[in-house]
Amino acid sequence: MHKPYTVAGVLGCLVIVLMLAVTILPIYGTADEDAARRACMNNLKELGRAAAIYMHDYDGFFPSGDPNGKYNDGSYALQKLASYIDDARDADGKIAILDKKLNATTKLLVCPASDSGKFYGSYGWNAYTVNSPCTDNYGYHKNLKSVKDAATLLLMADSDWHTLAYTDRADRDGSGWPKHVRYRHNGTANILFVDGHVAATSISLVKQKDIMFVQN
Ligand SMILES: [Zn+2]
Repeated sequence: MHKPYTVAGVLGCLVIVLMLAVTILPIYGTADEDAARRACMNNLKELGRAAAIYMHDYDGFFPSGDPNGKYNDGSYALQKLASYIDDARDADGKIAILDKKLNATTKLLVCPASDSGKFYGSYGWNAYTVNSPCTDNYGYHKNLKSVKDAATLLLMADSDWHTLAYTDRADRDGSGWPKHVRYRHNGTANILFVDGHVAATSISLVKQKDIMFVQN
C-alpha cells in the first residue's frame, strides 16, 4: 500500500531543497544575474568587434582621446566607434555613440548590472591605449604594433569610470592593478581584451599580472 506523506516528511524535504538552493545560488547566480552577465559580455564583444574594424581602417591605431582636452578620453575614444555600431544614433538620427549630454545612444554601452544604468558607471577604457595628445602620461599603446600580447591586454572592462589606469603611476611595472574595475557579476568583472575575447575575471586574477600595460 502507498504510504501517505507526513507533514514532517514534506517539511523536511522542503528544508533540504531550500538549503541546496541557498548553497548553489551564490555560485551560479540567479537567472537574472546570469542574463545580465551574458548581456554584458555580449556588449563588450560587440564593442571589441567595432574597435577591431576601426583599428583595421586606421593602420592599427587605437581610437584617440580628445586632442583639445575638452571631453574625457574614454568618451571621446568611444565616439570613434559610432559608425561601426548599427544602432548608434542620437535623437536627430545622427551617427553618435553618446549624445550631447554623454548619454549612451546604444544599449551596448550599458552594463545591465550597473547601478547607473548609463555609460558612466558601466564600462571603462584602458587609459594606456587612448592616445591622447594632451596628456603625456597616456597613449602608451598608440598602435597595435606596440602591443606585445593582444590576448592579455585589457581594452575595456566593467567599471565605475570612463577610463581605467593603475592605482598609482609608479605601479606601472605591473605591481599595481587597475582602479575603477567593478566586479559586479558574482565577484567577477567582464573584461574585453585587445584580441576581441571577453572573459569574466576575478580580482585575484587581475592582481596576478599586468593586463593594462603589456608593451613591446
Ligand atoms: Zn557588466
